[in-house]
Amino acid sequence: MTDRKVRVRFAPSPTGPLHIGGVRTALYNYLFAKQHGGEFIFRIEDTDSNRFVEGAEEYILESFRWLGIDFDEGVSFGGNYGPYRQSERRDIYKKYVKILLDAGKAYMAFDTPEELDRKRNEIENFQYDATTRMAMRNSLSLSADEVESLLQSGHQYVVRFKVEPGEKVVVNDIIRGVVTIDSSILDDKVLYKSADELPTYHLANIVDDHLMEVSHVIRGEEWLPSAPLHVLLYRAFGWQDTMPQFAHLSLLLKPEGNGKLSKRDGDRLGFPVFPLEWHDPKSGSVSSGFRESDYLPEAVINFLALLGWNPGDDVEIMSMSELVSKFDLAKCSKAGARFDYKKMIWFNHEYILRKSDSEIAKIFMPVVKAHGVDVAEPLLEKIVSLMKGRVNFVHELWDACSFYFIAPTQYDEKTVKKRWKSDSAQKMEELATLLQGLEDFSIENQDKAVHAWIEEKGYGMGEIMNAFRLALVGEGKGPQMFDISGLIGKEETLARLRRAIMVLG
Ligand code: GLU
Repeated sequence: MTDRKVRVRFAPSPTGPLHIGGVRTALYNYLFAKQHGGEFIFRIEDTDSNRFVEGAEEYILESFRWLGIDFDEGVSFGGNYGPYRQSERRDIYKKYVKILLDAGKAYMAFDTPEELDRKRNEIENFQYDATTRMAMRNSLSLSADEVESLLQSGHQYVVRFKVEPGEKVVVNDIIRGVVTIDSSILDDKVLYKSADELPTYHLANIVDDHLMEVSHVIRGEEWLPSAPLHVLLYRAFGWQDTMPQFAHLSLLLKPEGNGKLSKRDGDRLGFPVFPLEWHDPKSGSVSSGFRESDYLPEAVINFLALLGWNPGDDVEIMSMSELVSKFDLAKCSKAGARFDYKKMIWFNHEYILRKSDSEIAKIFMPVVKAHGVDVAEPLLEKIVSLMKGRVNFVHELWDACSFYFIAPTQYDEKTVKKRWKSDSAQKMEELATLLQGLEDFSIENQDKAVHAWIEEKGYGMGEIMNAFRLALVGEGKGPQMFDISGLIGKEETLARLRRAIMVLG
């Protein structure tokens, strides 16, 4: 069991967009698989046809492509253990349901929904189990003839797991340690429904994990209550020796207050909880995504990796390959992880800084183009290198540096009041003449010449630079003045100076 090949799976139900908690689950599976040279399977658990949502499967796949999480086998990837979509495995499940029925480990139950409701009203906290099952209509309480005639007449039934009471059930969880429960508290869960000839989640999940030789089940905390039943199912099939090891991840908590993170928190505080924008096919509503909100996938990965796992040193910025080597499932926390979206924005900023200017320029280029501006890549790279430290998102670069591309047509009133003095026009005229005479318009040379001129005339550094900035930018913001004039060039610098002189007088 210990030297078993690592095979893990991410097994979403295609019921809508993938929540960010699900993305973290997939990421941890991926990191674990890569770290152990194992395989990562993508399985679609679509046995609940009522909850099926058109487009969800493609959405999930696209999300992982964007994030750079790849699978070794599964739906759309192929592999030797397929099919990987549960709705295509009906016959397999039927066979295993029959095995349990034949062994007396499961039974058919004919109770109608009305009959079940009546029982629930009659008996407080009614549970279908060893204490009640003989009072119900099933293949244990009815005679063989009665069962036969119900089947003959086409009566629908479900197959229930026969939980033997008083057994010790041990769930050994890598994160939570050993949890022992008494089987008496469990109910006889439905494993299969004749009406749609489909198994329920529990049966399909166990059969598939077994047949696909899954070694570790790493999934969200919400599945922890199912684990004892799953252990009993492995036992019933005689598969306990190859039962996967469990690891139930902690919940993602709201940024503030109690409870688990929800889409409403994101809407309220202004951050997405889905990897990609989601257009709900039924309601038509649109939910924001990390991709469309301009997060870098590497930043999202890094942030998510640290939600519930801590490498134990102070290093926060880690690439995917560093995460693969450092990740430790056993060090994941049992306690919920608070979703600190401000930290997520910080990660995005850090990744913008760490990416090369040319990478950021490539992402920024379409934004610039969308504003109708045509700019050469080398120039954009220079602008990016000057400005990227000031933004958290690439799209914010537009507001931060649109003045490079577009000359001001208006001048910020407050700045004008403060920075444009009665003699500013005359001084800017002098500056324009000086700059016009410069053969070498490099940043260094402008800097040298302008400083010498200011000194010679006894002007104030501040008054000159502030008026110059107002003329070139239209307001009081921006980087070093010569970084601006140097990049927009002599001709444009002079044109902007002259225009300001004319307009502001
Ligand atoms: N289909 C379940 C889900 O949607 C899978 C749970 C599990 O990993 O066992 O999350």
